[in-house]
Amino acid sequence: MLNDNETIYRCALYPRMTNGDIVPPEKAISDFSEEKDQEGRKVYTISVGRGSMLPAWTAVHDYGCRTAVESNAVREKYKGAPLVRGEDTLHYIGAYKLDVAAVLNAPRKFLDLGVVHHEMTNLPEHCNIVLRRNTVEARRIEVSAERTGIIIHLRQSLYEPERHICDCDSDLTETLQKIKLTVVKDTGEALLTTG
Ligand SMILES: [Zn+2]
Repeated sequence: MLNDNETIYRCALYPRMTNGDIVPPEKAISDFSEEKDQEGRKVYTISVGRGSMLPAWTAVHDYGCRTAVESNAVREKYKGAPLVRGEDTLHYIGAYKLDVAAVLNAPRKFLDLGVVHHEMTNLPEHCNIVLRRNTVEARRIEVSAERTGIIIHLRQSLYEPERHICDCDSDLTETLQKIKLTVVKDTGEALLTTG
């Protein structure tokens, strides 16, 4: 479990998280993925990188590049054929900061929330924001509303995005350089930033 004084990074991937020429907060964090934990219980996760292992933006961008490489490897396996570059492939285009303290501040009653270190192939810095149902009795609709509230809270907690184009993506510079990462203002509206 990560301490509440730690910072984590959420990577932005093109085109999964883009809408036209922007990465809106609702695509930077669209939803949790459903997984099973070791005991076979349902958990919900969001992938992030561990700030204490990524001391500078160059390290964050290197991590981001590797997340795209690993995602593409999984996609290629799933497709069973080579991916068409720029069509089937994902590309890292920058990252957002997120404080663990802000994550843990999400209002909740029926769901437990934490950030856990979860190493993956070629991604030793990989962590998961993990959501799981606790034992407090609730109706399904209440749990689902709470989950939506947590997702909105996480989107509002994204800050200081930094854009990046990998050397490995120099052939796509023209497309990727137009894309801006956005954050939510206190008023709730999306604010354009160049990161
Ligand atoms: Zn790259």
